[in-house]
Amino acid sequence: MKLKNKTILITGASRGIGYQTAYEVAKEGANVIINYNNSIKQAQELEQLLKKEFDTQTLLVKADIKNEQEIIEMVNKSIKHFKKIDVLVNNAGICNDTLFEDKTKENFMEILETNLVGTFLVSKYVSKQMLKEKSGKIINVSSTNATYSYYPESLDYDASKAGIISLTHNLALHLSPYITVNAVSPGWTKTDMNKNLSKDQIAKEEEKILLKRFAQPQEIAKVIAFLSSEDSNYINNQVINVDGGQKYE
Ligand code: NAD
Repeated sequence: MKLKNKTILITGASRGIGYQTAYEVAKEGANVIINYNNSIKQAQELEQLLKKEFDTQTLLVKADIKNEQEIIEMVNKSIKHFKKIDVLVNNAGICNDTLFEDKTKENFMEILETNLVGTFLVSKYVSKQMLKEKSGKIINVSSTNATYSYYPESLDYDASKAGIISLTHNLALHLSPYITVNAVSPGWTKTDMNKNLSKDQIAKEEEKILLKRFAQPQEIAKVIAFLSSEDSNYINNQVINVDGGQKYE
């Protein structure tokens, strides 16, 4: 994969899909900017692992993607250190499943501010730098929930992920021909985001997947790594589902 010496900023890289994406791109020789919010220990452990296993440069940057000033500082630090950012992976995200009747405006706003507005803001400041280089790639992590929603408990999450698809198309339109913008929509993936699902819930959801299992985070990360690489230069304005072939009724 053509990733050697590319600099990749991954939001929410301290665990799950973001962590695995950092691993996959570093394996291919990319430099990785590891963004984290609260989990400094996990982020430091990831940095140590990448340095130990691969010939790669890393930078740890704390920033809450809900906070515009912290995003600006993260981008400035990244540019100061690496001179440019070749690829942005908007991975950070949260969900908070609660009964529709109990959901508050605050619950809804927190999800939107993190998943959707955060993706917008990080893209805004990173693309400004990419446009100076007349080159770049943005990969947004959406979800199959953006298109196929079954559970009103996650309606705020689903709406935020649908918004990310809209954002992807608008950004592709606006930033072409210099920057490509694509989205990856994972289906169920084995990460901490799903740690509270019961065995019965998992079995019920697996039944709807043609491959009869949840994805491993690296199976999503490898697709993001491909979209980050020069091997995917002609892929633009696309949403790629990575869901094991789900049956959507
Ligand atoms: P995860 O909970 O393990 O990871 C989410 C990461 O985002 C964490 O590192 C967390 O610290 C970070 N984050 C959250 N809020 C942040 C903030 N304000 N600022 C900076 N970082 C923040 O879950 P995951 O499954 O690895 O999720 C990664 C992405 O994949 C998310 O966007 C999620 O919505 C999406 N996704 C996950 C699944 C799944 O089944 N796990 C399915 C579809 C899409």
